Amino acid sequence: MKNLLFSFLLLWATNLGLAQEFIPYYGDIVAQCSQSNITTNLTEYQSLGVKKRGTQALQNTLDWLKNKYLSYGYTASQLQEDSYTYSGSTAVCKNLIVTKTGTLYPNTYVIVCGHYDSTGGTGTNDNGSGLVSILEIARLLQNIPTEYSIKFINFSGEEDGLKGSQHFVSAVVNGTTPKMDIRLVFNLDEVGGVAGLTNDSITCERDTTNSPSTNNALSSTMTNELMNCVSLYSPLNPVLSYAYASDYMSFQSNNEIITGFFETNETTHKHTNTDLLIYMDPVYNYNVAKAAIGATLHFSKAVTTALENEDFQNDFQVSFYPSPAKDTLNINMGTLTDNALSFRLVDLQGKEVLRKQIDNAHSIETISLQGLSGGVYLAVLQTKTKRVTKKIILE
Ligand SMILES: [Zn+2]
Repeated sequence: MKNLLFSFLLLWATNLGLAQEFIPYYGDIVAQCSQSNITTNLTEYQSLGVKKRGTQALQNTLDWLKNKYLSYGYTASQLQEDSYTYSGSTAVCKNLIVTKTGTLYPNTYVIVCGHYDSTGGTGTNDNGSGLVSILEIARLLQNIPTEYSIKFINFSGEEDGLKGSQHFVSAVVNGTTPKMDIRLVFNLDEVGGVAGLTNDSITCERDTTNSPSTNNALSSTMTNELMNCVSLYSPLNPVLSYAYASDYMSFQSNNEIITGFFETNETTHKHTNTDLLIYMDPVYNYNVAKAAIGATLHFSKAVTTALENEDFQNDFQVSFYPSPAKDTLNINMGTLTDNALSFRLVDLQGKEVLRKQIDNAHSIETISLQGLSGGVYLAVLQTKTKRVTKKIILE
């Protein structure tokens, strides 16, 4: 029933043309994706060695990941390990789960996942490339409120047959009553591109299996949205294909809704000792990360509904200028004729940095911005009954 209602709402939004426009606020966050972080993290991941079950390299990679998340501002209490063994081995493997709680739907999760184990080589493309993309998403969203909760999951055991994700689904997703409520599983596996080729496309994968098939329609809808995010937030072209042979399949068989990224030009080095950075295209990996950041902002709903409504529907022709602003900001009151107004500036963490009461407002008011640091702010103009909120940039 919930899925039916959700489909209906999506259809309604699509018909109204509200479904997916470029959101400048998301674009600003995507623009902070760092090529140097992508390349540095790939180099570090590669130097950790071959990450097979039971190796010190696998444990060291887990520790490396934990330190990354902690350095981005996540707290130890947001990090969880999910331990398991398989196939008669005594080697303990661990999945790393990093949880960011949503503002409106704290118990409904967008899962962004990729495996950190490798076989036959260091796995710099398969799947260091997915991991470094997830790290950039986690870094840039750490401070950003999202309506849905997000779980960033780094699986082990993938190369031995999706063992880590299978354990997570059976022990954690299905380990509670009711089971974990998952909005979407977004999997990134092997997105590093091929050196020397023109890597300008990313394959977007939907669920086409019949076991079960009840989750296929929503996977298709979400994958279409993923493709739109690729076009809106990266220079890449989306290519539609089907999901197979990676961790999302463990969720698929549990009737969850899945989508994923996989490189369109496919490496010939996977699972060998030449799966190395020199055979990849780190600029492509950076572009994939941009698309993935935009998609995660979209799927987790990183802007409040109130802000969207105010921005797009009740504008009263108010404008704030210049943009970017430096020492002063001008407000054109548009059709707002109310006399008593308050003006506020709020930073992206929700902290109010300026408040000014304006009585007997002129049609153009000028506000001093002296002493404020540069960055992106929300400008909020409010009367007794009306409110206009717009994003402004300070130099
Ligand atoms: Zn892989």
